[in-house]
Amino acid sequence: MDYVKLINCMRCGMCLPHCPTYKETFLETASPRGRVALVRKFQEGELVESEKFLEYVSLCLDCQACASACPCGVNAGELVAEFRCERKQEQGLSTMEDLILRKLVPHPDRLEAATAPLRLYQRTGLQKVVRSLGLLKVFPAALGRMEGLLPKLPEAPLRQTISEVTPAVGEQKGTVGFFLGCVMSLIFSEASLATVELLSALGYKVVTPKDQKCCGAPNMLGHDIEGLQDAARFNTDLFQSHELDFVVTDCGGCGAELKKYGHHLDGEAAATAFSTKVRDISEILATEAGALKEKLKPLPLKVTYHDPCHIAHCQGIRSQPRALINLIPGIDFRELPEADACCGSAGTYNIEKPEMSDRVLSRKVQNVQKTGADYLVTSNPGCLLQLKKALSEANPPVKVIHLTELLQMSLNA
Ligand code: SF4
Ligand code: SF4
Repeated sequence: MDYVKLINCMRCGMCLPHCPTYKETFLETASPRGRVALVRKFQEGELVESEKFLEYVSLCLDCQACASACPCGVNAGELVAEFRCERKQEQGLSTMEDLILRKLVPHPDRLEAATAPLRLYQRTGLQKVVRSLGLLKVFPAALGRMEGLLPKLPEAPLRQTISEVTPAVGEQKGTVGFFLGCVMSLIFSEASLATVELLSALGYKVVTPKDQKCCGAPNMLGHDIEGLQDAARFNTDLFQSHELDFVVTDCGGCGAELKKYGHHLDGEAAATAFSTKVRDISEILATEAGALKEKLKPLPLKVTYHDPCHIAHCQGIRSQPRALINLIPGIDFRELPEADACCGSAGTYNIEKPEMSDRVLSRKVQNVQKTGADYLVTSNPGCLLQLKKALSEANPPVKVIHLTELLQMSLNA
């Protein structure tokens, strides 16, 4: 870890009001400033790795709201993540971590096979029985929470059904590669199909290489740098073997990771070239605003937007999704208070730290209700999962959809 990054913190506290865990606890140990101090003291040998120390450090959501607020360029979330990666490299992966992060996640066919029983569980009606009888309570707590988050799965993962090449409609203005995020393909395939159809309608030929692997974000979450680097090398080579103007993704988490491949591979030329080509779908569509506006039809809906941390804080994308929503005639856009505050999903945080995740989520739900919106738009699968469940149970319920689904609704209205 670069010690200079730690000592750059001047302890001004400007990050504190932006940190979700600090806002819930008002504890210095649950603040960005406190976390930087803890890691620094550990590096200086003044603190040992006690249970309490690990608890403080692991309460960080890695949402990086602190980085957006810090005038000195300190990124407490990233520093904590780097610290945990270094510790993991020293300790090695557990058998379970090795199984999930190395033997399952990097293999899309295995991931798809692993989720097949869930489709059966839903299609046979067993899920309805389990939920209506309240049997989730007898599941182990973590399993019960995971099941509770599961929305209706598509008939098949998008990776299995999409064509490797989707031609441009009309005159072709460019060729883009489409990066299929694992969760987007497995669960939110309709949103990703809408993404590809929008790109095609705007004149882009879309290449979706079927052998692509997970972006490596789960490895980063599991503090497995080697696994992340393997994913970065593989995807870089695969996409760079095609002639592409851009590599597009509609998954905030994947986009944030893909844009850092150059960094993850210590500035390797191919990975850096790949990263510079990566665009979130909202970045591409915003450049096509004129052409898109001509195709959109009125939607008389009250809509608000939640900024995924991986899009707003990690990629600095804030204006484009809002501008795209406002292109739709008839839309009543309502700005969400604390729109760029984490929803509490944060990878597997909502399973591992349910109490803090629920507190952070509850604040988000209250803010959404203040807008009076019927629809909440967002662009990250973790946020979609977390917010779909919470807002379907809110009174009144609010529908949660991906940005490209909203645009497609308008296109087809
Ligand atoms: S992390 Fe940045 S904003 Fe927070 S206390 Fe340190 S210098 Fe100030
Ligand atoms: S990454 Fe998020 S939770 Fe962690 S210190 Fe920064 S603002 Fe707080």
